[in-house]
Amino acid sequence: MATKNMTPVKTPMPNQDPAVRAHNFKEVALGYTEEMARQEAARCLGCKNHPCVSGCPVNVRIPEFIAKVAEGDYEGAYQVITSTNALPAISGRVCPQESQCESKCVRGIKGEPVGIGRLERFVADWHRTHSSEHLTKPASNGHKVAVVGSGPSSLTCASDLAKQGYQVTIFEAFHTAGGVLVYGIPEFRLPKAIVQGEVDKLKELGVEIMTDMVIGKVLSIDELMEEMGFEAVFIGTGAGLPRFMNIPGEGLAGVCSANEYLTRINLMKAYLDEYDTPVLKSRAVAVVGGGNVAMDACRCAQRLGAEKVYIVYRRSMEEMPARNEEIEHAQEEGIDFRLLCNPVEVLGDDKGHVCGLKCIRMELGEPDASGRRRPVEVPGSEFVLDVDTVIMALGTSPNPLIRSTTPGLETNRRGCLVVGEDTVSTTREGVFAGGDAVTGAATVILAMGAGKKAAAAIDSYLNPAE
Ligand code: FAD
Ligand code: SF4
Ligand code: SF4
Repeated sequence: MATKNMTPVKTPMPNQDPAVRAHNFKEVALGYTEEMARQEAARCLGCKNHPCVSGCPVNVRIPEFIAKVAEGDYEGAYQVITSTNALPAISGRVCPQESQCESKCVRGIKGEPVGIGRLERFVADWHRTHSSEHLTKPASNGHKVAVVGSGPSSLTCASDLAKQGYQVTIFEAFHTAGGVLVYGIPEFRLPKAIVQGEVDKLKELGVEIMTDMVIGKVLSIDELMEEMGFEAVFIGTGAGLPRFMNIPGEGLAGVCSANEYLTRINLMKAYLDEYDTPVLKSRAVAVVGGGNVAMDACRCAQRLGAEKVYIVYRRSMEEMPARNEEIEHAQEEGIDFRLLCNPVEVLGDDKGHVCGLKCIRMELGEPDASGRRRPVEVPGSEFVLDVDTVIMALGTSPNPLIRSTTPGLETNRRGCLVVGEDTVSTTREGVFAGGDAVTGAATVILAMGAGKKAAAAIDSYLNPAE
């Protein structure tokens, strides 16, 4: 048996220097070398009961793939991962590992857990650069399925169905496929070329991708099923409708949602110097919120040239929902975290433009329904941040368009599609759903898991066992 590496800390991930990367959109984390990967793989104890696997929503066989990395069999490791996870280059980069697989790793008891996400990324990147694998279109089984949306739930569902011979067409509202992976998560965290590689694989499998197709406007679900011959539909339309605070001044020029801001930067290419995309160019920015979306927005604002960028979050660091790594990276890049603060008014100048954000200090009270301690205002503690832009990153909910144009499709009071016990069958026969459209804003890997489950349910629906 190979010697174990009992170092209590993870093999460090090489990153771009914070002072340099804060002004460019190139990927921050540079990835392990082979030597680093094998060194980190040797930290895994190969536990018989492998608790890490139960922390992964798609049950990647973690010790098995890590053992292959330790042996230098990277292609073998890739085959183990992709038997349950179709998009490892993406999940290795963006999964909140600290609350999933790595949270259960026994090495985390007396030190840092094994860097499972970093190893997964290494394996996927190794495969991408060393494999010349070309997928071939499987023989058709004669059934047509429509997939609405092209985020991780849809990409996974389409891939699983296409591999079984289904004729799959993806209908995407935007002009580029990939969902939040391309229009939300910035280039410096998830390069667009990686997502494009996954979309290209789907095309090799024979999946047709139709962009600029807003279902519910250009075509309805009924038209897809009754006139275009699709026997089943998967809805993976995500949760892209932003929330606002409803405080005075939110209508001023210089206030926008993080969704709109990030979409302009990512999809309309404001991150490239050669594009003249209209996007807020700011001197000082306050981003309101504490999730991944807030971290992405504040780091983009700095990269677009803002001199001062604040995160304004009403709870403390402990409750921040963003991935630890994104919080650490934002801090290293010089973002100013104003914790236990909540905006009460956006202040405007005589031209109707933002000239400040009035906030109030908060303290933590008793736990609320979410189990987190409820923030309570400290009377008389108001103060003003000198900013010319306010970006709201307060969460999102599903867009009501599909529900309002599809008779018989039920949603709950949060606007999420209602599904049956199998978690993917909607209230309309032949219509399945998954990802954020069902759960509300969640994670990439949960969306992928739902897409996988939906593909299996669609297969049982269209090809029931005799
Ligand atoms: P989405 O990825 O939202 O894709 C839905 C697609 O459907 C979109 O392309 C949309 O244009 C399309 N669509 C919508 N309506 C229609 C219609 N009527 N007709 C046709 N197409 C339609 N999760 C993580 O795990 N880690 C992270 O680090 C992380 N960071 C994030 C950062 C940002 C900025 C955002 C916004 C989210 C982040 N998330 C992260 C959450 C994660 O991206 C989502 O949970 C995941 O993408 C949901 O996948 P999905 O397939 O349900 O939908
Ligand atoms: Fe961990 Fe995500 Fe990979 Fe699962 S898919 S092993 S949770 S990084
Ligand atoms: Fe390896 Fe940690 Fe999983 Fe044990 S719990 S098999 S050490 S990754």
